[in-house]
Amino acid sequence: MALERNTAQRRAILDAIVKTDRPLTPDEILQAAREAVPRMGMATVYRAVKALEASGKIVAVELPGEGRRFEAAGKKHHHHFHCRGCGRMFDLHGCTGNFQALLPAGFRMEDHEVFLYGQCRECSRNR
Ligand SMILES: [Zn+2]
Ligand SMILES: [Zn+2]
Repeated sequence: MALERNTAQRRAILDAIVKTDRPLTPDEILQAAREAVPRMGMATVYRAVKALEASGKIVAVELPGEGRRFEAAGKKHHHHFHCRGCGRMFDLHGCTGNFQALLPAGFRMEDHEVFLYGQCRECSRNR
């Protein structure tokens, strides 16, 4: 029975991450997953996140100086916006791209990360 309960909780956690569609902190995952499983606790979130990450269903988004956030795996290439007002992180769709042009001669780019910072819509309105 414990196994079935774990599976249901894990599914609720994965659903919450997929549905919210932006990288979530463990606290935000807990809040979102509690809509489906009201009595869920933080330890369950940490265990589920670890298992979901190990099985490749979610990936970590790491912003320097911040805790890890998690989003669904397999999304199209995209970047993130970090709101300094509310601290939430949002997806930015698409990519402006041509970073190759920034490289010194002889360098070869293998990957890139882009974070934009500012105020989300709600936070800009409340100013
Ligand atoms: Zn905000
Ligand atoms: Zn990009």
